[in-house]
Amino acid sequence: MSENQVKILSGAPIAEAIKKEVAAEVKSLSENHGFCPCLAVVRVGEDPASAVYVGNKVKTSQELGLISEHHHLSAETTQDELLKVVNDLNERDDVDGILVQLPLPKQIDDKVILEAINPEKDVDGFHPINVGRLASGQKSLVPCTPAGVIEILKRYEIEIKGKHAVIVGRSNIVGKPMAQLLLQNDATVTICHSRTTNLPAVTSQADILVAAIGRAGFIRGEHIGNGAVVVDVGINNVSDVDFAHELFGEDELEKRLAVIEKRGSTLVGDVNPKEAKAKASAFTPVPGGVGLLTIAMLMKNTVDAAKMRRKI
Ligand code: NDP
Repeated sequence: MSENQVKILSGAPIAEAIKKEVAAEVKSLSENHGFCPCLAVVRVGEDPASAVYVGNKVKTSQELGLISEHHHLSAETTQDELLKVVNDLNERDDVDGILVQLPLPKQIDDKVILEAINPEKDVDGFHPINVGRLASGQKSLVPCTPAGVIEILKRYEIEIKGKHAVIVGRSNIVGKPMAQLLLQNDATVTICHSRTTNLPAVTSQADILVAAIGRAGFIRGEHIGNGAVVVDVGINNVSDVDFAHELFGEDELEKRLAVIEKRGSTLVGDVNPKEAKAKASAFTPVPGGVGLLTIAMLMKNTVDAAKMRRKI
């Protein structure tokens, strides 16, 4: 039997292309309109993963010529104190984008904070006004991860129109906005979740299968139809060597075992890569796939927010 030919949809060239476009737009806004878009990132507490994410966001903003501000508040910050910071940023005319890094400490209700952000500056696209605008097909700020998935599909010239897209996961951050974006691009969309019965029977019908579940290697060969395009949004750490043998074929196993040995774990998506490679026509790797697009799309959202608010 001949081996399945699978195309790897690497996120790196797409993220680089988007960042280049953003840098060019920032330059043009500065030369032709006399301002530079400004992103304000707010972090509360000492969550180490959040510190890395925020650091990367600030660093990328600076590389692309955007102005960026990092507001770091103590873990004891009250909800009212955080609301005041958000309100001050809402009122400042020079701030175009506001991002409050999640998770927040337990004394603060995420929903209250996200709803306090001016929807015009809501570069994460989580405010109910932006969610509603997206659902009703109006111009809006769109959550970065699903927006990045669409960029990958389009820039690799994968046809969306008329295709059956199946999404596993219905979170507000990934699954639901993903469904809206695929619908806007004329796919026929099915959304699955933990209560879906006979998941493989549904997912194996997909031309485009998007996995956003949060469980390492959950999507197996039985979930994937022959020739499907598989998009893996998941980011999980795997430290179990036996599990690594189930996930990786000979092409990757040695490298991954070395990573586990050196760092204690390796990054794995929600799709079993060995089994996806045997059935899919194309798939996004983890790491190096969708994850690389998220920050690039945040930068793009900041420029889009600046242009929309300033009516450019
Ligand atoms: P959530 O935990 O919010 O949502 C997970 C979804 O998966 C839920 O809708 C849940 O269903 C569904 N699910 C869980 N178990 C099953 C199952 N056994 N069968 C079918 N569906 C199931 O996760 P997120 O959407 O926030 O994130 C999903 C993944 O994407 C994670 O791995 C996360 O790390 C990653 N991620 C990556 C980003 C990136 O930049 N690349 C950004 C954001 C997330 P139900 O609703 O019924 O509980």
